[in-house]
Amino acid sequence: MLAQRMSLLSGSGTAAAREAAALATAAGRQIVDLAAGEVIIEPPSSVCEGAIAAIRAGTNRYTDAIGLMALRKAVAKKLSAETGIDWNTDNIVITAGAKQGLLDAALAVLDPGDEVIIIRPCWPTFPSQVLLAGAKPVFVDARPPTYIPDIAAIRTAVTPRTKAIIINSPNNPTGAVYDRTTLQAIGDLAINYQLWIVSDECYSSFVFTAERHESIVMAHPSVRSRTILVNAFSKELAITGWRLGYFAAPAEIVSAAKKLQSLTTSNANVIAQHAILHHLQVGDGSFEREMHQRLSEARNIGLRILSGLHDVTPLNADGSFFFYLDLTRLISVLPPGGPVRSTDDIARLLLEETDVGSVAGSTFGDVNGLRLSFGVPPDQLESGLNRVVKTLNGLKTRQAAA
Ligand code: PLP
Repeated sequence: MLAQRMSLLSGSGTAAAREAAALATAAGRQIVDLAAGEVIIEPPSSVCEGAIAAIRAGTNRYTDAIGLMALRKAVAKKLSAETGIDWNTDNIVITAGAKQGLLDAALAVLDPGDEVIIIRPCWPTFPSQVLLAGAKPVFVDARPPTYIPDIAAIRTAVTPRTKAIIINSPNNPTGAVYDRTTLQAIGDLAINYQLWIVSDECYSSFVFTAERHESIVMAHPSVRSRTILVNAFSKELAITGWRLGYFAAPAEIVSAAKKLQSLTTSNANVIAQHAILHHLQVGDGSFEREMHQRLSEARNIGLRILSGLHDVTPLNADGSFFFYLDLTRLISVLPPGGPVRSTDDIARLLLEETDVGSVAGSTFGDVNGLRLSFGVPPDQLESGLNRVVKTLNGLKTRQAAA
């Protein structure tokens, strides 16, 4: 018999959506996969060259459990430049992707019975990891069209057991980018109620409607001593499979992570560490700028196509690389009794009949949403979104005829 904790885990809905799209492709169908949580683009050559050089140099051994000192130094320098705040290696841990950093954070600060506030819709790994640590996720719903959380609702959710709040801006799946006032208010709450802040900033490179990404530690510098700022190279450099992330945190969290990582995975892959180090040393930022430009163009194309949707609230898509449709109104105007009653039904229909992969909001704890990635090549994006618009706009008639 399996341990009880396994019953807490429901598996990844995003992975299931991608698997369904991959199966349909394998069956010979021309699927446009807008379910992916990664940008489909070649990574920078400097990363590949760094990896090849490391292999050729016979780099095969363990590193420190929290990463090569040279890489921690380079990450501290990068983060200092991006945030305008000084970080040094005592604050930096190299992880096997952001996921490991988030798990380190959960295991380091949560005791059984603790509560953690999570803004919903949310990436499903957040509540799962909280449960794995024996604690309890407490959800606060952020509403469309902005999906910026209401501070009063967060305050109401705080109890004497609340230990932490997890925030994710730019957001997966909603694309929300929290404004400075919201970040400051969350910071104030964390200080007043003595909470840890876990700030997942994996999509920090993908902000489209503001000058640049603003971390909570920039908006409210005094929260730094209670913040675990998690990030990764997965999305930023289009290397999700290389498994290289990092976090910045107070020294006590860094030592906890050192114990956790040395007892579980040991160091993140050494070749990936050298590859990123090389990129950070020789990269001139051109890859990152081009990727941003490409995604910004894709976003414009997508917003234009999606503006043709009927009965769907216009969306913002301020950051990350997702369009998140609120389909509350569309579902409410569908004739009752037909086959389509939920966004799960819509995601299924899109895949089965229009050959488009998407992720239903139920994956993110929101029955009304539908996530579509714009991190795919422009021709695929146009073709996929045109099909989505045609299918959704035809739903009312189709359902009436069913
Ligand atoms: N955080 C968020 C909000 C994500 O959406 C994802 C991946 O989809 C991750 C973390 C995982 O990042 P990594 O692949 O670096 O573990």
